[in-house]
Amino acid sequence: MSENSADCLFCKIAAGDIPGDIVYEDDQFIAFNDINPQAPVHILIIPKRHIATVNDVDGEAEVVGSLAARAFKLAKKQGIDQSGYRILMNCNQEGGQTVYHIHMHLLGGKQLGFLG
Ligand code: 5GP
Ligand code: ZN
Repeated sequence: MSENSADCLFCKIAAGDIPGDIVYEDDQFIAFNDINPQAPVHILIIPKRHIATVNDVDGEAEVVGSLAARAFKLAKKQGIDQSGYRILMNCNQEGGQTVYHIHMHLLGGKQLGFLG
């Protein structure tokens, strides 16, 4: 289920080995447009450090808050903070996770339906 960082797609994007449509970067986090957007705004925010799933954050759950803080700023930058948006993280198969490097989705720019 979990990949190591050597064959992880998002580690490669974070390292610049695979091109990503990057919209934000700092020393620990990077954000880029989703390749298959589900809404006019669909950004993925990731830690540069490989963590396979949210089950693996262990004692570092604050990383999720750091992802959210960046998502909130990006929502404002994208002009969807007032119209509304959704942040979400999928975990493992039944949660819909397909890339095993944690990421927060930021979705907005249209009326979103209920998921699930
Ligand atoms: P998950 O299903 O794991 O929560 O979300 C993975 C997301 O990564 C999907 O929305 C998918 O479209 C996106 N994705 C998969 N491969 C790539 C890629 O190579 N580049 C980018 N920018 N997004 C990708
Ligand atoms: Zn990774």
